[in-house]
Amino acid sequence: MMQSSGVVNTLLIAVSGCSCSGKSTVVKELASFNAHSLMVHQDDYYKPAAPQTADGMENWDAIEALDTVKLLQDVKALIQDPSKSCPACLSANDNEENNQHIVYIEGTMVLDIGKLSELLHTKIFITLSYDECLRRRRQRWKDYIDPPGFFDGCVWPMYMKRETTLLKDLTVKVIDGHQTKEEIVKTFLDVNK
Ligand SMILES: [Zn+2]
Repeated sequence: MMQSSGVVNTLLIAVSGCSCSGKSTVVKELASFNAHSLMVHQDDYYKPAAPQTADGMENWDAIEALDTVKLLQDVKALIQDPSKSCPACLSANDNEENNQHIVYIEGTMVLDIGKLSELLHTKIFITLSYDECLRRRRQRWKDYIDPPGFFDGCVWPMYMKRETTLLKDLTVKVIDGHQTKEEIVKTFLDVNK
């Protein structure tokens, strides 16, 4: 008897990049193309406290702020048996073993987790300029406002550090986040042909 075919059939795609670069919007759009899509959001894996910067700020953009062990466990469980968490498989009589599942993992730090990186089939990094990132971040300030100095002290330097590393990594596909959602999705589909 064959082993669970989920192991070979599950495609793992990480979408990372700048804060406010449209990661989750793009992932939602991509997931709508295939009913057997599953999503893992970095935001669900924050620890109750973050490490402090030299200035005493809580650094929520440091990898230590994330429960990467739990995230990795959950991703591995999805690879092992995607149909168990897949609404399309669960709701319809559509849980054939050979369904192709796609797991999208989304967040600013998801390409920083070494043991996760080894499992990924596609790595996407969406870039943004300082001015545009700050503009979008301010637009988002309704219920939550960044503490003074947080953008320049944490968000931007942590992103710059990541960008410098990932732009040298030839396995990472870089997409310009200044494009519209539709253009980003098109670029994604083009680079994954
Ligand atoms: Zn499914």
